[in-house]
Amino acid sequence: MHQYTILGGHDKFEELKGEDGKLALEKVADPYLLYGGEYAGDAKDAADFKYLTFTELPKFSDKHKSLMSKVLTQEVFDKLKDVKSSKGYTLSNAIMTGVVTPHLGVGATAGDEECWDLFKDLFYPIIKGWHGYDAETSTHPVDLDYSKLVFTDEQKATFNEYVKSTRIRAARNISGFSLPTGATAEDRAGVEAVLKQTFAGLDGELKGTYYELGGLTPEQTQFLLDKGYLFQIPTAKNLLTGAGAARSWPDNRGIFHNDTQTALCWVNEEDHCRIISMEDGGDIPSVFKRFCALSDAIKASAESNGTKLMHNEKLGFLGTCPSNLGTGLRASVMVVLPHFNKLMEGDNQHDKELLEEVCSRYDLQPRGSAGEHSAAVGGKFDVSNKQRLGFSEVQLVQKMIDGVSKVIELEKMLAAGSTPDDIRAKYVPLLRAPTTLSVPLLETVHTLTHAPLCLFHFCASRRLKE
Ligand code: ADP
Ligand code: MG
Repeated sequence: MHQYTILGGHDKFEELKGEDGKLALEKVADPYLLYGGEYAGDAKDAADFKYLTFTELPKFSDKHKSLMSKVLTQEVFDKLKDVKSSKGYTLSNAIMTGVVTPHLGVGATAGDEECWDLFKDLFYPIIKGWHGYDAETSTHPVDLDYSKLVFTDEQKATFNEYVKSTRIRAARNISGFSLPTGATAEDRAGVEAVLKQTFAGLDGELKGTYYELGGLTPEQTQFLLDKGYLFQIPTAKNLLTGAGAARSWPDNRGIFHNDTQTALCWVNEEDHCRIISMEDGGDIPSVFKRFCALSDAIKASAESNGTKLMHNEKLGFLGTCPSNLGTGLRASVMVVLPHFNKLMEGDNQHDKELLEEVCSRYDLQPRGSAGEHSAAVGGKFDVSNKQRLGFSEVQLVQKMIDGVSKVIELEKMLAAGSTPDDIRAKYVPLLRAPTTLSVPLLETVHTLTHAPLCLFHFCASRRLKE
C-alpha cells in the first residue's frame, strides 16, 4: 500500500480523477505539505508513510479546530521544537495529525510514555481544555475493585426491565514499547507477543481466540464484520493515519474475543490494547468484574514480561490520545426510554433537549443506539459516564449506575403523565455550572475528534472504536 493510497483513499481519487477516469497526475499535490512541513527524513518513516518535520510554527487556518492548534503558540513551539524523546518522538510527530487533519478535536498524540512529561507544555493545556482537569496540581485515583460497586436489588430490577445491554471499555498500553504512533516494527511485534501470551493464558470465562488482522480468511472477516468487532481500515482523514499509527497496516494488529463474545481486545490499533467487556442485559457488576479481570490479566502479563502498564499518578492510564487518559473508561448501557424518545421526535426544541439536560445533570452522556451521532432506534439510547479523568473506575461506574437509575425514574414520570416542565422544575435547577468548557462546546469538540472515524468505518452501525 502506497502512502498516496492511504492518504487519499477513494474520495481523493474521485477528486483527482481526470476525464479519462484515470488519476490526473497534474492534479496531485501532497495535501500534507499545505501547512508548512517538509519531508526531512524520520527514522520511523516506512514504505507507506513519511512523517513531516516542522521547522516553523505550522500554518493553521480557520479550519483547524483542535485544542492543539489553539495551545501551540509560537512560544510553546519554540520551546519544544527540538525536544525529542529517547525513543525518537518529536514535537513535529506529536502535532502532525492535528496539522494535516484540521477537523480533529484534540489534534495531538503521544508516541511513547515519556512524551506525556516531555511535551507537557503542549499536553497539559489540552488536557485542561478537554477534561477540565489540572494535571499540574491534581492526582488521578485508580480503583478496579469491582466488589465496591453498590447495585441495590431495586436498581437490579429496574435495570433488568429497561436495559438491553451493557458495555465497558478502556485502553491499556505496555511500558517500554512505543505507542502505535511512534512504534517501530519491533515495538509492534513486541506488544503483540505480550498480548498473545496474555490471551493464551486466559481461562474460564475469558478463554478465547486471537485473530491476526493480516491473516483473516474471508469467512472470519465476514464474521467479525457482521458482529461489529473488526476495526476500521485507516483512511486519509482520521487520527491514526496522520499520526503515523497506520504504518505497515495490518502487520501485528489483531482482535481477540472470548468464546462467549463478552470480552474483546483490539491489538495495536490506536493503543496497544483496547479492552471491551459487554453482555446482554443490565448486570453492571458482572460486566465490570469481567472488565477488571481483563485489565488485571494484561497487567499481570506485562509484569511477568518484566514491564508494567503505562500509568502515572497525575494522568492515570497513559496512551496515545489525551482524550483517553485517566480511566479512559466508558461504561454504557443501552436503555429503552420511549417517552424521552417521543419528545425527541417532536417539534419542540426545548423538549428535544430534555434527555441531554437530565443526563448532563448526572455527568452522563446520551448517544444513539449505533454509537455517536446515530438515532435512538426504537427509543434505545446508549447512556454512559461522561468523565474519564479525576475519578476512579469504581466511581465512574457507580455514577453511571446511580445516574441511569435517576434517568429511568424520570422516564417513569413521563410515562405517568408528567410534562417536561414538571421534570425541569424538579431537576434542572440542580444543573451544575460547567467547568472549563461549556457542555455544548465539549460535546462539539468530542464530535470533531471522533466523528471522522465514523464516516469511514465500513461497518459504521456496529463499530467498537475509540
Ligand atoms: P466507544 O467510543 O466507547 O467505542 P461508540 O459510540 O463509538 O463507543 O460505539 C461503539 C459501538 O459500541 C457502537 O456500535 C455502539 O452501538 C456499541 N455500543 C456502545 N454501548 C453499547 C452497549 N451498552 N451495548 C451494546 N453495544 C454498545
Ligand atoms: Mg467511539
